[in-house]
Amino acid sequence: ATPTAVMVATGVGASQGVLIKGGQALESAQKVDCIVFDKTGTLTIGKPIVVNTRLFKNMVLREFYDYVAAAEVNSEHPLAKAVVEHAKNFHSEETHIWPEARDFISVTGHGVKAKISDSSVIVGNKSFMLSLDIDVPVEASEILMEEEEKAHTGIIVAMDQEIVGIISVSDPIKPNAHEVISYLKSMKVECIMVTGDNWGTANAIGKEVGIENIIAEAKPEQKAEKVKELQDTATHPLTAFKSFDRSLQLSGKTVAMVGDGINDSPALVAANVGMAIGAGTDVAIEAADIVLMKSNLEDVITAIDLSRKAFFRIR
Ligand code: ADP
Ligand code: MG
Repeated sequence: ATPTAVMVATGVGASQGVLIKGGQALESAQKVDCIVFDKTGTLTIGKPIVVNTRLFKNMVLREFYDYVAAAEVNSEHPLAKAVVEHAKNFHSEETHIWPEARDFISVTGHGVKAKISDSSVIVGNKSFMLSLDIDVPVEASEILMEEEEKAHTGIIVAMDQEIVGIISVSDPIKPNAHEVISYLKSMKVECIMVTGDNWGTANAIGKEVGIENIIAEAKPEQKAEKVKELQDTATHPLTAFKSFDRSLQLSGKTVAMVGDGINDSPALVAANVGMAIGAGTDVAIEAADIVLMKSNLEDVITAIDLSRKAFFRIR
């Protein structure tokens, strides 16, 4: 590539809110034939809202939400923010002070745990509950499944090792998500979704955006592993040579990862091109090669187009 072509493309990108961090990122983008998308905050708006609450104990909603918010106010997760926002509805003050949380811990991809008053409060998904030896009754599992079919996420709340409620949260897909995916598919770019969320919700969202290839309940390292696996996938008859020289790029896919979260950063680094959503976390933005400043999914296409144009002229 001529430095001029790279400079021009980088400049055009910047003016359109597509920040390309260097020539290598630009060069890799034109070869992308597979894109791995994170779900929450990437394909979905990422500003989930509470749409329903079910209590299993004789508790009033306000009391229930005081405990939940006290724990979740310490978490940066979008689901935690949704829950705290909702909890505020039960108080009139603009800046309500939640009960004190002690021994707070946050487990990535699972949820949070804290001691509030004399109760141990755990908020998170089913696998988090099971890992902490909390029984998930059939009734609760059925509610979770119903919610997942509606593309909602069911957040379980346990107090003193017993499930006391389920909060249903909805995070709609971005208005242009479906269109962007079908355009990419028409460009013969394979689209995959990898999420830490559960299978039910993931499948429902996949259906809405038009992605069939889905991996759910993935931990941050598993997102990165999936990227590496795709890079190693044999698509070329000369695949055997790749083990001799990885730089030959004779086989495997050139993979872009699009994500917004701390949990996406290992995959953003592993990908040939990591693309971060501008509204995402600083960690993701730093890990990425390209930043989509406007947080618009369409700019995934803009980035690929820019690089194709820049390199087409030189070849
Ligand atoms: P994604 O890959 O979709 O961005 P994460 O890996 O961040 O999702 O989280 C996976 C799942 O873990 C969430 O869908 C949720 O069920 C649970 N979870 C994680 N953090 C929290 C939290 N602070 N409160 C409630 N649930 C959480
Ligand atoms: Mg995310």
